[in-house]
Amino acid sequence: MKIYINGKFYDKDNAKISVFDHGLLYGDGVFEGIRAYNKLVFKLDEHISRLYESAHSIMLKIPLNKDQLVKAVIQTLKINKLNDAYIRLIVTRGEGDLGLDPRKCFGKASVIIIADKVKLYPENLYKNGMEIITVSTTRNSHSALNPQIKSLNYLNNILAKIEAVHLGYEEALMLNDSGYVAECTGDNVFMISENELYTPPECMGALRGVTRGAVLKVARAAKIPTHEHVFTRHELYTAEECFLTGTAAEIIPIVKVDGRVIGSGKPGKMTLELMKKFHELTKKDGVKY
Ligand code: PMP
Repeated sequence: MKIYINGKFYDKDNAKISVFDHGLLYGDGVFEGIRAYNKLVFKLDEHISRLYESAHSIMLKIPLNKDQLVKAVIQTLKINKLNDAYIRLIVTRGEGDLGLDPRKCFGKASVIIIADKVKLYPENLYKNGMEIITVSTTRNSHSALNPQIKSLNYLNNILAKIEAVHLGYEEALMLNDSGYVAECTGDNVFMISENELYTPPECMGALRGVTRGAVLKVARAAKIPTHEHVFTRHELYTAEECFLTGTAAEIIPIVKVDGRVIGSGKPGKMTLELMKKFHELTKKDGVKY
């Protein structure tokens, strides 16, 4: 495996950055998880844009422009000879001193690109659906650390994941401080009620997921009414269908939330239809390499 760091490729064992990098010391940096399907990078522009938005928000200057970054991603995929891949794109604040002041890292931002094989949830969960549980860790509030910033500081999500794993679940449902459904630790959440599709709006603490956006588009094209609308756990418990979306997870059906059976207890009809349409999209929509 060859890993890109600041314009050069290194073997995995030699791919190293400084222990003074503020990405390590403080989680000061941004990242993206991107997917390639059969030599097509899915929604690359959307991921690159979100990375630049996250960086802009934390006043981190990415040392490459968008075209150069796209080229570096493609180069990493080619050098690793991967047709299908999960790509992790990371920009750290860079090397500084032990204080947290980012000015001390000025001009040293590091760009790292790792392209690996895709790891998904086990296949049977896609077939039979997954169970999730609400955890007590609430999603970060906008005023503290806006969930739209895809930063290297993922402790909010990790704490929620630890709770879920401790309780024997793969994924956690996270609420915001007002008790409304926000998202899961690494996936967005959707429900279907009276044949209409709902997902929480960004202001509820949901990341503007790239897969979320693609699913909303696919649903609209299929004439399914879609809503970015606030909902509570009660609405989710009584929904007809539920599923999660994410770059790694794609679309995964949810059949139980906090022990409540959702709909028939099997992956729903509309969920299966959207999964099919989403897979079709990944076969044709992307940047070729
Ligand atoms: N929410 C969170 C907290 C995430 O980390 C992710 C994965 N990046 C998502 C949602 C899903 O976003 P996407 O579809 O862009 O992968």
